[in-house]
Amino acid sequence: MTERKIPVMIPLLGEEEAQAAAEAVRSGWVAQGPRVAEFEKRFAALVGAAHGVAVSSCTTGLHLALIAAGVQAGDEVIVPSLSFIATANAARYVGAVPVFADVELATGNLSVETIDAVRTPRTRAIIAVHQGGVPFDTRALRAAAADWGIALVEDAACGAGSTAYGEPVGAGSLISAWSFHPRKLITTGEGGMVTVDDAEVATRLRRLREHGMNVSAADRHASAQPVLEAYLETAYNYRMTDIQAAVGLVQLGRLDGIVAQRRAIAERYQELLADIDGLTPVRDPAYGTTNYQSFWVLIEPSFGATRDEALAELAANGVSARRGIMASHLEPAYAGHPHVALPNTERITRESLILPVHHALTEDDQDHVVAVLRKLASR
Ligand SMILES: *Cc1c(COP(=O)(O)O)cnc(C)c1O
Repeated sequence: MTERKIPVMIPLLGEEEAQAAAEAVRSGWVAQGPRVAEFEKRFAALVGAAHGVAVSSCTTGLHLALIAAGVQAGDEVIVPSLSFIATANAARYVGAVPVFADVELATGNLSVETIDAVRTPRTRAIIAVHQGGVPFDTRALRAAAADWGIALVEDAACGAGSTAYGEPVGAGSLISAWSFHPRKLITTGEGGMVTVDDAEVATRLRRLREHGMNVSAADRHASAQPVLEAYLETAYNYRMTDIQAAVGLVQLGRLDGIVAQRRAIAERYQELLADIDGLTPVRDPAYGTTNYQSFWVLIEPSFGATRDEALAELAANGVSARRGIMASHLEPAYAGHPHVALPNTERITRESLILPVHHALTEDDQDHVVAVLRKLASR
């Protein structure tokens, strides 16, 4: 038997991206400039928002989103523990207290009920995540947040290409942060974006990512007259480079194809796994579609092995699967941090695994992954 190596994810990068990056370098303009501006416009349009503000990562985008939402030291920010740890950390960056809420078993997402269970008079914002690409119920959560008078920041790190109620998940959102890390569907190496509909908030975000300056460096260079900038508030350097944006512009053209391919692979997994007892694959919720950034499978007690045994067996057979989405409250960084009981969070993080989905995955690879799981189930 030839040795097989099936990675969990491979970014789709081609010669076009290499060319675009090279052109940016040759142009002499490598810092934030015209390509970033173009990438912002096109990305915002693609996800259904009026304005895009490119930043260095989704993590820095979440930081700026909380500042723009007016979150201050001592405020409480409701977050899912079941998320990449950056979601909870963003609250700490502004001196606020992350308050962990549980998630729904089927979607891995916050619900109105789980948020309401931990809401207090000190709650200033909620960060809801479209986890692994599965949209949360945008209509329900946005309406509840508006009723409560609490800002809803959306962590759409994994959400490009996912939809809710027939629209991209960015449409109608107060403020959303996106990631272009290679583990997401489209990548700029590192990079992120914050999208909003409100022009004034967009202006504030542009200022916050660039040292609090009232004129961007790009505008200053473009002007025929000398422009004297002012620094209006203490802010950050969270800029994206034009080299990254050049790559991102090419990646945008690939998004629809990537989503279609991932959905086809996920559907085939769902069919192949259907008759294996004790495995529940993630699916589209009733109100939307996932881009399957992560295709996870929940292991029931009736399955023949534990999650960690399944991971080990897959690894022994050349398949790089991953543990389920992390639970931030179980990490040392949050040791001793008070929280309510989080049963669904703990269940998903301990008893789910993420299977390989990427453009280079063949049907034969997929059959191999399923065969390993089938053999475990029948032990
Ligand atoms: C990947 C991810 C982030 C962090 O994105 P970066 O661009 O790497 O900072 C934040 N939140 C969620 C839910 C993620 O999956």
